[in-house]
Amino acid sequence: MAEPLEAQARLDEIVRQIAANMVAEVCSLYVLRADGILELYATQGLNPGSVHLAQLRLGEGLVGTIAATARALNLQDAQKHPAFTYLPETGEEIFYSFMGVPILRAGRTLGVLVVQNKEKRIYRDEETEALETVAMVVAEMIAAGSLEGLSRPGVVLDLSRPVHFEGLALADGIGLGHVILHEPRVVVTNLFNEDAEAEVARLEKAVSSLRISIEDMLQRRDMAVEGEHRAVLEAYRMFAHDRGWVRRLEEAVRNGLTAEASVEKVQNDMRARMMHASDPFLRERLHDFDDLANRLLRQLMGRAGDMFGDGVAGDVVIVARSMGAAELLDYRREQIRGLVLEEGGATSHVVIVARALGIPVVGQAKGAVSMAEKGDAIIVDGEEGAVHLRPPADVEKVFVERVQFRAKRQQRYQALRDVPARTRDGQDVALLMNAGLLVDLPQVEAAGAAGIGLFRTELQFMIASTMPKTSDQERLYSAVLDAADGKPVTFRTLDVGGDKVLPYLHQSPEENPALGYRALRLALDRPGLMRTQLRALLKASAGRELRVMFPMVTDLEELRQARDLISREFKHLTRFAHAMPRRLKLGAMIEVPSLLFQLDELMQLVDFVSIGSNDLFQFFCAVDRGNAQISGRFDDLSSPFMRALREILDAGQRHSVSVTLCGEMAGRPLSAMALIGLGFRSISMTSSAIGPVKAMLLELDAEDLHRTITAHLAERHPRQTFRQMLEAYAQAHAIPH
Ligand code: PEP
Ligand code: MG
Repeated sequence: MAEPLEAQARLDEIVRQIAANMVAEVCSLYVLRADGILELYATQGLNPGSVHLAQLRLGEGLVGTIAATARALNLQDAQKHPAFTYLPETGEEIFYSFMGVPILRAGRTLGVLVVQNKEKRIYRDEETEALETVAMVVAEMIAAGSLEGLSRPGVVLDLSRPVHFEGLALADGIGLGHVILHEPRVVVTNLFNEDAEAEVARLEKAVSSLRISIEDMLQRRDMAVEGEHRAVLEAYRMFAHDRGWVRRLEEAVRNGLTAEASVEKVQNDMRARMMHASDPFLRERLHDFDDLANRLLRQLMGRAGDMFGDGVAGDVVIVARSMGAAELLDYRREQIRGLVLEEGGATSHVVIVARALGIPVVGQAKGAVSMAEKGDAIIVDGEEGAVHLRPPADVEKVFVERVQFRAKRQQRYQALRDVPARTRDGQDVALLMNAGLLVDLPQVEAAGAAGIGLFRTELQFMIASTMPKTSDQERLYSAVLDAADGKPVTFRTLDVGGDKVLPYLHQSPEENPALGYRALRLALDRPGLMRTQLRALLKASAGRELRVMFPMVTDLEELRQARDLISREFKHLTRFAHAMPRRLKLGAMIEVPSLLFQLDELMQLVDFVSIGSNDLFQFFCAVDRGNAQISGRFDDLSSPFMRALREILDAGQRHSVSVTLCGEMAGRPLSAMALIGLGFRSISMTSSAIGPVKAMLLELDAEDLHRTITAHLAERHPRQTFRQMLEAYAQAHAIPH
């Protein structure tokens, strides 16, 4: 196989040698083209004139079935198989026995390799193994592009086939670039071993390092915190000790492969089989096995710990199964044009960060990781929730035009920047923005935000590897106030715990972290942390207004304690003659439904409230905000939730306490329309949503919508859902949404 031959001669030699070694009358190689046709590329034993002429569709005949299912077929009497089809040009009707294996690479079928015999025989397992091993070599040849010259002009091989994924639009925007795989698969090039025993020893050593590395991960403090991580790691540990897996790896080595190639082979087999499993649990396990196999490969190649590999120059789109918010920040922002996640929901923190950075995101793009190769051209359509991998030129052209169109629209929003956010009937609405990092700050000016309605202080803590010092915190808060340039800024105190994990803050594992020891609950128990932060806030706001709010308030006693803490810090600093804020305003986030039933008491304790609709809705409907399986199930634009929001507005009015909403729904024009119609005059959203929301409200008659909403909410059995009513309203009044 290593002989320096021309591609066709090499294929001919490969099929000739297989036929000779396996005592088969026929050996044929089919390659899958981009148009879904399997074309005969080489044969020993069939009519040589049929090479490049004999063709089968994917799923057609035995060869097509193997390609479509990515499974080998081993048949004593091929003609009895229901999928058998007769290709007259090959003259194959005289053969009985048939064995075919898919040519696989990274879970993708690139072709099929077949042997046939006249007599009825069953091929032994070792023969199947041998054929699969050769198929791997051929897969590398195809992937390296060595067969391109053999194709007729215009014929494209399957490796470059365009693929289209439908997912969820999680962050707006369109991005074109080249794939970078987060946790990229390691590509194995050295396939055959010279000394099987030495190679087995190498494999065993790597497996034991792998096991140790998993133990280490389990021992890490940050891993002790999150339930899900731990469950995954425990499963990894179990898989790494799976005897069947290790035995299959060793067998492959004894059959002549290098340790690396054996990992790849065993994983290819598993992936190909499990890709077709419909059970989501099984497919999830496949991901774990993929990760584990990659880890083992990295161990073997001495690249453990190297997660990112070489960067790709130019515009990149990161393709990941899932990703943490801090991991995204490890990449150079200037090069990122988009993010594709196989998992992820609208309020996953990585998505929130991506949105803050203006990176388009599509989530739930199932299969993207295994279909994409590093360097592939890719388009992320964060408007429609679609991903185009290896797009044909005409699709790419459409998207380039869309990007230009968006740029024009952005210019229109830009032109709106200084237009007051006033509805047609003269109602002013404060369009504030959410922020949490220094990178957000230029947006206050660029988007024309009326201020910062939610500053998520935990992000500074989440991206740091050690606890930020008071002076670092103070510096950030000062920079935020400077950027706001006199516009109001509302700082939220640390909201950690739950899904927001600080690696350096020890927390015990919890069954239900979202309902657990988090946010204010944790802060009040560890007043040191909170006091440091409050002090940094007070100092940073010297001579200016300081607005502070507390997350996840559940009980009013918590709020009283938090207020006490801040007044103690206030007194402390005054005693040391520090310059103090000109004015101090305290608020509570409404995120826990218990507050809905003590609104009057709550309003007496605060200067303002801000509704965290992401969490409030999560607890209102008992629907995990990060669980994609159920996150689309309940609608936040529904009457019960709207009634809850109205109660809060009414209570605010009774006590002259201002009410804002700062969850993700404020940034969706249709939801923002509903909020303004309900009576909100202040909402806070991701900065890129300010333009679209303003364009919406400029066309809105808030009083008129208010009447329509009030009537709808009063109806017992409305004809339409609340959302349908809103959509119809926006349509009828030509309100952009
Ligand atoms: C919310 O819960 O709506 C909110 C704004 O807070 P976070 O998304 O940071 O939990
Ligand atoms: Mg929240």
